Amino acid sequence: MKKRTFLVRILPMLSLGLSPWIAGANELRIAATTTMVADLAESIAGDRAQFTGLMGPGVDPHLYKATASDINTLQSADLILYNGLHLEGRLADILVKLGRRGKQVYAVTENIPEDQLLEPEEFEGHYDPHVWFDPRLWALCVDTVVDALQAIDPDHADEYAQRGAAVKADYLAYYQWGEQYLSQVGDGQRYLITSHDAYNYFGRAFNFKVIGVQGISTQSEAGLADIVEIVEFIKKNRIKAIFIESSVSPAAIQRISEGSGAVIGGELYSDAMGAKGHIEKAADGSSFDVGTYEGMVKSNIATIAEALK
Ligand SMILES: [Zn+2]
Repeated sequence: MKKRTFLVRILPMLSLGLSPWIAGANELRIAATTTMVADLAESIAGDRAQFTGLMGPGVDPHLYKATASDINTLQSADLILYNGLHLEGRLADILVKLGRRGKQVYAVTENIPEDQLLEPEEFEGHYDPHVWFDPRLWALCVDTVVDALQAIDPDHADEYAQRGAAVKADYLAYYQWGEQYLSQVGDGQRYLITSHDAYNYFGRAFNFKVIGVQGISTQSEAGLADIVEIVEFIKKNRIKAIFIESSVSPAAIQRISEGSGAVIGGELYSDAMGAKGHIEKAADGSSFDVGTYEGMVKSNIATIAEALK
């Protein structure tokens, strides 16, 4: 179903032979891979650019393969932004090649200091790419986007710098909101059990122990041994709730829920944001659009807090 949503958007363009960009618009053309990267770029570039995101809501970036129309989008863009740290799997190889041929291509995570990146054992020598779940780390990606925009559009350098500073302040405020909201969850319930290892940075930022059933990427499936082990762990620690993810199959989590008695506490956004304009409300009265970075982060935090408090 997720794939279909994407095709519905892309197929009419292909059949009509249309470009993904609005013709005649006097704007920069920015191609972004994930919804989070597109949101980051849009927050800083604002009306100065038009955006095409390759991956829509619910799309898994680890397994994503570029389509013919994606290649067309990338080749006709003024600027290409991607997450990096191997999040995009094989698509990253294409992006690096385009960069070598002179295209402006930036991994937004490229200036995060290495000592702030996690390198979990199961990532086999790679850094964990899911940095957006610590808003303080995502704030460290802002300057890379500001630099990229200033390079392709130096006339508006000040404007990008100003918006970048405002975006950083917003992200730090989301972190503080999260810390406050999650203070309802006691130390004994600070376990986050989900489908794949997307939440290591979240765990470090907000003091949760994180267990991903499928490991780092969605490429591997959960083995029976893992499931039995996690069921035992949940029972032993009396963990109340576990969580499914919007871009990963819920099968393993459902089996663990049945085996352990922990309820499914809700659906978390992992590697893609929600549908634009879908509004959710938190118990503290705040509401947010889950098709934005802010909404994605706050929705996850509210879901976790409500299920584990
Ligand atoms: Zn992931």
